[in-house]
Parts: sequence; C-alpha cells; structure tokens
Amino acid sequence: MPVKNRFAELLPRITEWRRDFHMHPELQFDTHRTSGIVAEKLTSFGCDDVVTGIGRTGVVGVIKGRKTDSGKVIGLRADMDALPIIEDTGLDYASTAPGKMHACGHDGHTAMLLGAAQYLAETRNFDGTVVLIFQPAEEGGGGGREMVNDGLMERFGIQEVYGMHNWPGLPTGQFAIRPGAFFAATDIFDVFVEGRGGHGAKPHECVDPIVATSQIVTGLQSIASRNIDPVKQVVVSVTSFQSEGDAYNVIPPRVHLRGTVRTLDPGVQDKTEERLKTICTLTAQAMGCTATVDYKRNYPVMVNSEAQTAFAADVAASVAGACEDAPLIMGGEDFAFLLNARPGAYILVGNGDTAGVHHPKYNFDDDAIPAGCSWWAGVAEQRMPIG
Ligand SMILES: [Zn+2]
Ligand SMILES: [Zn+2]
Repeated sequence: MPVKNRFAELLPRITEWRRDFHMHPELQFDTHRTSGIVAEKLTSFGCDDVVTGIGRTGVVGVIKGRKTDSGKVIGLRADMDALPIIEDTGLDYASTAPGKMHACGHDGHTAMLLGAAQYLAETRNFDGTVVLIFQPAEEGGGGGREMVNDGLMERFGIQEVYGMHNWPGLPTGQFAIRPGAFFAATDIFDVFVEGRGGHGAKPHECVDPIVATSQIVTGLQSIASRNIDPVKQVVVSVTSFQSEGDAYNVIPPRVHLRGTVRTLDPGVQDKTEERLKTICTLTAQAMGCTATVDYKRNYPVMVNSEAQTAFAADVAASVAGACEDAPLIMGGEDFAFLLNARPGAYILVGNGDTAGVHHPKYNFDDDAIPAGCSWWAGVAEQRMPIG
C-alpha cells in the first residue's frame, strides 16, 4: 500500500486547510477557531459522532467501519496548538496573529488527520471503529492529560492510540520510530536563594546569594557526570538566573534560578530530583544562604508499546518503502499521557531539510501530507482489516 491516490486528489484541499490554520495560530487551550473548524469538517465528512469540549477545547470524531464485528476501537491523535513565537518565514500565508506562530507543525498534523478522516469516512474499509482525537495545548499545557482525565478512553472505548509528529532533518515523507522510551519526561524547577543584601563594596557585611547560586549552578553539572549511570540519559539545564539586583554597587538579597530536567527512566528521574534538592539546599547553606526548591514533574516519559510500534513501522514501510530507527529525543511530548492510558505508538514523519521546530523560520512541508495521511489510513485499515 503506497501513498493512496485519493490523497493525491485531496492534497490541494488539505494544503489549503493547513495554510488557513497556519494563518490563524492559537495557543494552549485557546484553540476555539481551530476546534470549531475541525468539528465542522468532521461533521461535513459524515462522521458518526462529533463531540466538542473534551479536555476543554479538544474535539473527537467517530467513524464506524463497514463492519464493526471485530469490536476494535483505535484512537488517532493530532495536536492543534501553536507557539508564542514571532514568525519570520516571509510566507504569503504567514501568521496573522501577532506573537503567535505554528512553529511546531501542528497545523500540518491537524490538516493531515482531517484528510485521513475524510478518506476514512468515504471508504470505511475497516472492521471496527476509528476515533479521531484533536487535542489542544500540547506545548506545555497538558491538553492530552486533560482529555484523558475527561474520560477520553472510556467514553469512546479506545483500545489503542497512535500519534504522529513531523520531523525536520528526516527526508520529507519518510518515517522513523523506536519502541520503548522515546521522548523524555520534562520536569521543571525553581530555586530561590536567599542571602543578605548590602553595599557592593562591603561583601563582608552581606551574605552574597550570587556567589552561592553560581556554585549551585556549577554543582548541578555533577549530577549527570557523577551521580547518574553514564549509559543512561539525563539533562539538567539551568535556563534562567535572575538576581533582585539591578545596580553596579549593590549586592542583592535574593536570586531566582529556573531550569529543566529531562530523563527517560523513573529511577534516574528520582535520583536527579533528590540530588538537585540536596545540592541546592546544602550548597546554599555552606555559603551562609538558604535555598528553597520547587520541583515539578510535568510530562512523563513517552513510551511506545512494542507490538504497536512494530505494526506502525510496517505501515510506514508500506507507505514510504522503509521506516528508519528514530533516535532518543530529550524533548517532551504529551502524547505520553495517552500512551500511559492505552498501548500504542508515536511515529515521526520527515519534514525535509527545514529549520527546526520552534524556530521562527520553521514551516510544515505540505509535501509530507500524502505520506502522513496514507499512514493514518493504513493504521486503521491494516489494524482492523475487513475480512
Ligand atoms: Zn513543539
Ligand atoms: Zn509539536
């Protein structure tokens, strides 16, 4: 089953949808326009059921196959939200919303799943039920978590879930996947270091939180190098260092550090959290300061199920001729919440030699649409073959 001819016919239309979404990016759960268009199109395709307002602005469409004797129900998921980035592509369909941009290609994901929905509703060449899941707030807001908590799996009887993300650097329309841990857990931390401020020329009368915090930043580097098994993955990045000082001659009283921890293994995650807290509090204490640490776990590790990954790779190979082994990715993906609820697989589709995701010059490659749509259709038709 190579790229389906129907998607070659639908390509101009799907491209038009994609570019319309691109012109009107919406952030987090505020995907009202996008969700409205998705629901309207799903209804116009003749879906058996279209439900809005799941996980706030999430939309679900249900398509029953020509037969449903198998009792199988498969969820296919796309994300709809954009990013707070000022677009710099110069495209004639660039963002019309100041400071918002589809810089992660979710415009393409939404359009491709809509294209697949139209085809699946037309053909219904499967024995079972397809549940189309359009989620808001993938970019840090946990829209997938909200939909799962809103009863997504139980309400629609979903047994397996599949997801797809475009991937710059992978040739357009090619696929890559890996079983097991794939995307990282994304923890965040705030550290507040308190000293005693005063005159910049009288450090002996102060307790300088800047020097203490500098030692904390350096100390945190030893978690990866000295505490975690070298063959396992961990990232500890301090991404913000702000003192309350704003002058050349004042030692400030306080410093606020922020950062992120990325891991692929629960043991490594626990150990990193514990070491981070210890290094912050005891280093601060050694320097005469106090530190309070606020450590939050956000997205969990995204783990692809073995059997569904092998199946997803087979479908990809039937569409594109081959499916590559994907690397481990230390970025996060809230499809993790869906994969924690049900077995399934998440695949990458090539976006070609473009700027990376989250870059102001990034753009989704419309030439990936036929392959992406064909993979979605193949997942439904080959996982629930009509006898
Ligand atoms: Zn993103
Ligand atoms: Zn994304």
